[in-house]
Amino acid sequence: MAGLRWGATSDTGRVRAVNQDSVLAELPLFAVADGMGGHAAGEVASQLALGIARQHLGPGSQPSLDVLVDAVAMANRAVFEQARVRAELRGMGTTFCALALLRDDAGERVVVANVGDSRGYVLRGDGLHQVTRDHSYVEDLVEAGEITPLEALSHPQRHIVTRALGVEPNVLVDTWERPALIGERYLLCSDGLTNELRDPEIEEVLRTQQDPQDAADRLVHLANERGSRDNVSVVVVDVVAEGFTGRIEVPAPPEGMQVDELRAMAQAMLPGAALPPPAWTDASAPGVTTLVDDDEPPPAASATPPPAAQAPAARRATRRRRASGPTKARTIVRNVAFLAVLVGIVVFALLSVQAYGRAGWYVTTREGQITLFQGRADGLLWVKPKAVSRFPLTTSELSADWQTRLAGRIDFTSRPAAERWYQLLAANPDAVPRLAVTTTTSTAPTTTTTTTPGAPTTSPTIALPTTAAASPTLPNLPADEPSTIAP
Ligand code: MN
Repeated sequence: MAGLRWGATSDTGRVRAVNQDSVLAELPLFAVADGMGGHAAGEVASQLALGIARQHLGPGSQPSLDVLVDAVAMANRAVFEQARVRAELRGMGTTFCALALLRDDAGERVVVANVGDSRGYVLRGDGLHQVTRDHSYVEDLVEAGEITPLEALSHPQRHIVTRALGVEPNVLVDTWERPALIGERYLLCSDGLTNELRDPEIEEVLRTQQDPQDAADRLVHLANERGSRDNVSVVVVDVVAEGFTGRIEVPAPPEGMQVDELRAMAQAMLPGAALPPPAWTDASAPGVTTLVDDDEPPPAASATPPPAAQAPAARRATRRRRASGPTKARTIVRNVAFLAVLVGIVVFALLSVQAYGRAGWYVTTREGQITLFQGRADGLLWVKPKAVSRFPLTTSELSADWQTRLAGRIDFTSRPAAERWYQLLAANPDAVPRLAVTTTTSTAPTTTTTTTPGAPTTSPTIALPTTAAASPTLPNLPADEPSTIAP
């Protein structure tokens, strides 16, 4: 029977005003949460997440993998709900990295669950290994081969998290599970530690500080010496023989385990090792690979390395990894990008329809007035034509012939074209009988046509067809006039 002993600490650091990290260290659950959000929101998010998980996986409960994942899911839902209903907490979220010791018929196992860029490590005889995979923008860049792990450490966007609790109603949880081996030491930490200390430095502390609380304190102390620009949280958990109270020796290779088996296990646990094997690009003939849709890896690509490349122990270590492993995570990131492009296309299409629907101009009679409309007469989907101006002439002032014509509609390619047409109409005695009368009686006021720029007595006949059989559209519309979307 294995037992656990542990130490934990959380520190504001040297720069931040408040500590938005939270830690939980009590059987059966150990966790760090790094809260994000303005004002007190980050603190609320991390504390709420741990509080809910603790409630679900309370002291004395016998955790299983499903129960642990459920606890994370409930913590996520709680943070999401609070962020939704409380305006001052809007946008909050938190990372969540947890560890529990599981006991069932299959034996004793340590399970680590992770969402975000807090990390889980394991220290064994053969070194310190990162167990979790960061859900961060730079991690995606590293995996895509665009930057090196070293460059990731100083990348300006290294704080962008691609997965966190509280952002969406549901969350994918990555889990790793290994046999509980006495002598192994686990570390959970927020990025405040790993941004200040390199892995070899962390390993040095974990190897030299025998007591887990001393190790946790020492790590935070070192991060503070570096100026800790962020909150720093550390939980150190040792797998010990049940009832163990004394000092624990530096982790040594577990008894009966071959060195190469260990190495294979280590390999399987390293972040890069669990990447989808390039098999689905390499295995097929060269040239065929370009046909593979980046967004949909073929079913052959799984989160586990090809079995042939693994020692049995290593396969056991990754066997239970859930579908939400790195491949899935990357696929999601890609799908999000794909979705963004899709949304862009849809928005463009909608705007295009809108533009097209607004492109035309026409004049018709509306409530006894000659009215200029923008848009298509029948409308186009949701884009209805809109009345943009009413001309001064009323329909009743027009000749019977033109009243009939304007009961229908006359199309134009632009607003100026329609306005020019109107000016010609308003000045034409054939269309406005009153004009004919006034011109013969010479001195009648012509104030109704004050906007007429051209000489009213010469030009009107150009525009107006003299035969009543004419089509409702004027024949002299400038064909080269571009359609524009008027403001
Ligand atoms: Mn942080």
